[in-house]
Amino acid sequence: MTIPYPRTQLFINGHWREGATQRALPVYNPATGHPIGEVACAEAPDLQEVAEAAANGFQVWRRISAFERYKIMRKAATLLRDRIELIAQLMTQEQGKPLAEARMEINAGADTIDWFAEEGRRAYGRVIPARQEGVYQLVVQEPVGPVAAFTPWNFPIVQIARKLSAALAAGCSMVIKAPEETPASPAELVRAFADAGVPAGVVNLVFGDPAQISSYLIAHPAIRKISFTGSTVVGKQLASLAGQHMKRMTMELGGHAPVIIFDDADVATAAKTMAMAKFRNAGQVCISPTRFLVQEGVYKEFVQAFSQNASALQVGNGLDSNSQMGPLANPRRLSAMEAMIADAREHHSAVQVGGDRLKREGNFWAPTVLSEVPLDARAMHEEPFGPLAIINPFSSFDDAVAEANRLPVGLAAYAWTRSAKTAQQVASAVETGMITINHLGLGMPETPFGGVKDSGYGSEGGSEALTAYLNPKFVSQAGL
Ligand code: NAD
Repeated sequence: MTIPYPRTQLFINGHWREGATQRALPVYNPATGHPIGEVACAEAPDLQEVAEAAANGFQVWRRISAFERYKIMRKAATLLRDRIELIAQLMTQEQGKPLAEARMEINAGADTIDWFAEEGRRAYGRVIPARQEGVYQLVVQEPVGPVAAFTPWNFPIVQIARKLSAALAAGCSMVIKAPEETPASPAELVRAFADAGVPAGVVNLVFGDPAQISSYLIAHPAIRKISFTGSTVVGKQLASLAGQHMKRMTMELGGHAPVIIFDDADVATAAKTMAMAKFRNAGQVCISPTRFLVQEGVYKEFVQAFSQNASALQVGNGLDSNSQMGPLANPRRLSAMEAMIADAREHHSAVQVGGDRLKREGNFWAPTVLSEVPLDARAMHEEPFGPLAIINPFSSFDDAVAEANRLPVGLAAYAWTRSAKTAQQVASAVETGMITINHLGLGMPETPFGGVKDSGYGSEGGSEALTAYLNPKFVSQAGL
């Protein structure tokens, strides 16, 4: 039986409540296009209250020992796992991804909380040898303060869990502006923390008008750090605002990941593995493999094998256990796919598989494979953020690297080769924040996650992600 979808409220200073004007936005199921619930909206008085709550919550949370924080966070992770079936159903109804992917995401969220809970206990400072006898020079790590986090709809839980876990482990409080399109599963994440015993004001959740909320919170003196995941265009706007107010920031922005398949690759494994990665979450993933650059010797073989994997996918409502790919999360993505693929056709690209909207209710788009796409087609510049793979041939190593590095973004990259020498060379030559060779190895809590160039800066994984919420304070002390 499908779990009824709720009306989602704001969570401010330990209370679930409506916004000051009771305004709400509708939430739609992307598999049907029908409204399923509502989400409360925060207005200016709510934002003032939430900033003050986060300031007070910070003063409480920073004084709780790292060991106690660890225990509360571990409990939140356990609660999340205990409630996985309920939360997965909510996520699939609001976001569209198959239930199996929703469960994977919730487990990944819980693993992230666990890992950062542990890491927070190791936020070590250091002692620097002094130039004078009797002087102690210490570096202590202090939490940056209340954080404002802005997260998107593609991974409603994991995008928050990465930011929130690192912030809490460091001793920071947070105001989360979660996605209005997928509000119920983020609310369950916040509920797990509240039920685990996080004090009032430490974790707060708001929804509403993204631009109004971000401009208010970024400028607010209580907020000391901004963390944003979303498009490069919005990221640049928020980064300039944060710069004006001298706020620290982490920006996890768009990508257009190249996949370089060399002549000596295991083509069948590469095609199967990369098709799985490409169509996960219907391609609405910032690290989604997009530009497949295939060396001429194996080009035809790869196009055929990859296309077979794409056309074999079962597309359907994520609540149906047979579905391997769900709908696009919102009608904006459908229009974006329509425009991008029409443009690619006008530029004489070859459509190997798909290319069209599926004729049924909901935002369904067929898994799509295009080949021989010219450089002046939009798809070669803009992030598709949908189920679109582009496959083009290359002849030399240098050509492949030049094409991989052509765009201003650099988030994730993939390569397949049996040569250790080529693997080492490609890892060094591609301008990217992350590269995984001969397998899928990105996105664990313990490994760095972030981009270079227009893909942003800062890391959302590994010990670097904890450091992003800490200020080093230098203390020099002499005996009297
Ligand atoms: P968008 O740029 O309008 O929004 C992206 C996210 O930013 C949303 O969650 C939105 O609520 C938020 N946002 C927008 N304006 C904001 C503002 N002024 N202040 C604070 N938050 C703001 O795009 P969209 O239509 O939701 O998605 C389209 C594009 O966004 C995609 O093509 C993709 O490039 C990018 N995107 C990236 C990720 C990622 O994981 N990096 C996730 C979702 C979307």
